[in-house]
Amino acid sequence: MVKSTGSWYTVNMGDEMMSCRIIGKFRLGKHKLTNPVAVGDKVMVEEEGNEDHTGIIRKILNRENYVLRQSPRRKHYMHLMASNIDQALLIITLREPDVKPGFVDRYLLMTEPHDIPVIIAFNKIDIYTSEDDRRTKGYEEIYRTIGYETIKISARTDENLDQLKSLLTGKRTLVSGQSGVGKSSVLNALDPELNIPEGILSDYSGKGQHTTTFAEMYSLPDHTEIIDTPGIKTLSFNNLEVQDVAHNFREFFEYSSACRFNNCTHRNEPGCAVKEAVSENAISVVRYENYLAILTEIENQNYWERHTDF
Ligand code: GDP
Ligand code: ZN
Repeated sequence: MVKSTGSWYTVNMGDEMMSCRIIGKFRLGKHKLTNPVAVGDKVMVEEEGNEDHTGIIRKILNRENYVLRQSPRRKHYMHLMASNIDQALLIITLREPDVKPGFVDRYLLMTEPHDIPVIIAFNKIDIYTSEDDRRTKGYEEIYRTIGYETIKISARTDENLDQLKSLLTGKRTLVSGQSGVGKSSVLNALDPELNIPEGILSDYSGKGQHTTTFAEMYSLPDHTEIIDTPGIKTLSFNNLEVQDVAHNFREFFEYSSACRFNNCTHRNEPGCAVKEAVSENAISVVRYENYLAILTEIENQNYWERHTDF
């Protein structure tokens, strides 16, 4: 499935694209979904045999992996960003608009359950100050240390775009970013054929104009596939419990086997190996503070808010 526009799903049938609908309910475990079929899903389709040549999606084949987020519009629903991907490209910038504190860590919380490789691209480096360059270096060190790829690029000057292109070639990549980071500009610079509408930053509040509303997968030469997704405003995690967060901060999880308590949340427990690693700078204090902020946020969610089934 390459594109969904509300109730219609565009399915690539190999020789043609077919508009399909779904009948019946598809769930993902305990989650209610705003979009039961994700871009990237392999599906079985039954042709309806009508003039418009539409189809019905009867079955979704098992997903190799997927990226799931809380629906930005419907609090108690989850939204499938994409499935069956090789990697994710997270585009951020430190200028116009500066990345929100903790945003990268929140994003990685969504890719980590399926161990999806993430490339973090710092865009707009053409307008960075020396202070921005210094901060970028700090971020690169944090994320490279824990196994993520980073790259500094500019869609305006084309800096390092060849290098980025080679990271994407032959793979299926989910591309995400906050609104206004230059995601459309980067994709168009990589391949002008894409012709993705670029938003205009009306001011520098970081709110780019809404352009992409639905995710869409594009096929490029050399078996390269790009899944463009709407700009992200915020990422919340009503759906998660404390232990889910602890397990999905990958370097915390590594150390946690040495914590005294096996259900350690790495806050005030005695004998916490994660806290010790933070104090020795083996774990980034920035990551740790962002972790604490997420725990506080999900604990402050009203219990009944999170358990609507009762
Ligand atoms: P999107 O919302 O993430 O798709 O962002 P757009 O591609 O629409 O770009 C938002 C704004 O940032 C536009 O005004 C672009 O011209 C600008 N922009 C994009 N990439 C760069 C870059 O590398 N450098 C600079 N200086 N501006 C950029
Ligand atoms: Zn601990």
